[in-house]
Amino acid sequence: MAGARCSGRNFLFVPGPTNVPDRILRAMHIPMEDHRSPDFPKLTVPLFDGMKKVYQTDEGRVVIFPSSGTGAWEAALTNTRSPGDKLLAPRFGQFSHLWIELARRHGLEVIVQEEVWGTGANPDRIEDALRADKNHEIKGVLVVHNETATGVTSDVAAVRRAIDAAGHPALLYVDGVSSIGSLDFQFDEWGVDLAITGSQKGMMLPAGLGILCASPKALAQMENAKCTRAYFNLADHFNTNPGGYFPYTPALPLLYGLRESLAMLFEEGLENVFARHRYLASGTRAAAEAWGLSLCAKAPKWQSDTVSAIMVPEGFSGADVISRAYNRYNLALGAGLSEMAGKLFRIGHLGDLNELMLLGAISGAEMAMRDVGIPVELGSGVAAAQECFRNADGAAEQRLAAE
Ligand SMILES: *Cc1c(COP(=O)(O)O)cnc(C)c1O
Repeated sequence: MAGARCSGRNFLFVPGPTNVPDRILRAMHIPMEDHRSPDFPKLTVPLFDGMKKVYQTDEGRVVIFPSSGTGAWEAALTNTRSPGDKLLAPRFGQFSHLWIELARRHGLEVIVQEEVWGTGANPDRIEDALRADKNHEIKGVLVVHNETATGVTSDVAAVRRAIDAAGHPALLYVDGVSSIGSLDFQFDEWGVDLAITGSQKGMMLPAGLGILCASPKALAQMENAKCTRAYFNLADHFNTNPGGYFPYTPALPLLYGLRESLAMLFEEGLENVFARHRYLASGTRAAAEAWGLSLCAKAPKWQSDTVSAIMVPEGFSGADVISRAYNRYNLALGAGLSEMAGKLFRIGHLGDLNELMLLGAISGAEMAMRDVGIPVELGSGVAAAQECFRNADGAAEQRLAAE
């Protein structure tokens, strides 16, 4: 293990990969088997149904690739678009930026709407751009639901309303890598056409699965889509998935892990999973406030419940905090990316996580900040989060007693 310390747990608080629960680790510890055997579909068929529940869709079709989330970005675009097609994409962080660049590599023309980092997709601007596109040359709108680089969540339902208000047929493409499985994500209700995620964030697995969900409207565009696609061709999956098989060797341990992950999410209940993320995020935000530090998210409506990006004061470096936390306290915090490099550090609070784990990270961040000279009072952030967690718990108990 890197860093000075070998005893105790490494505190993994980057917003992905997230902690893999022991239950899932055990479930993945399996001998290899024949992925074309008659028994194999017993494992695989329920995975597609389970993912549909996580996406909250009846109509959508799920595909599971052995890839990271980036592969699913590529699959969403190449299966539905042709080179030269126009896309509209707000850019407000490193992940929205990378998706745009990936689209351009495939010969797609992306009209970028620059938004201040710390804000998100602006439905009014999207509506205006689509209204101005009288000939319907824009074929899709790309939105990153939860911008992991800045800790900003955008309102996907509002983007759909904007597209509809403009009377525009563009597809709605959504990156849900750091939201799906942690934040409420309503594929059908919000009118999403293609949504992608990866296994290593809310799904609590190692990286290695890229998961896509496509609406009937998106699937109808596959036939005329001319972008080159080989490994990520959805048609190959549709030929084999219904029987419970894959066009190439699937990532077996990850599929067993996914089965366990889905079981855990459904045992807790998706609504409870979402509520837990809101609650843990509120404790993290209380800590930042007690430190006198602001979030990268510019207003409460943008604040993410899966990751908080905390700005360090002028004259200090977020990178120093991260390196001190890692080397001295065995705590991994997320770095500032690109435009935000050095300006912030991020605490991921998604996946398999509870109050005391998070208090450990808040405590470590507090010590690391003090060590590099940032004038925060030791215990202040921890105490604020503790109050938040105690009170929230009390409120829940009172509600139960009242019922
Ligand atoms: C992590 C992440 C990705 C990238 O996924 P990989 O699995 O690293 O390819 C894309 N989008 C968002 C919002 C992410 O958080």
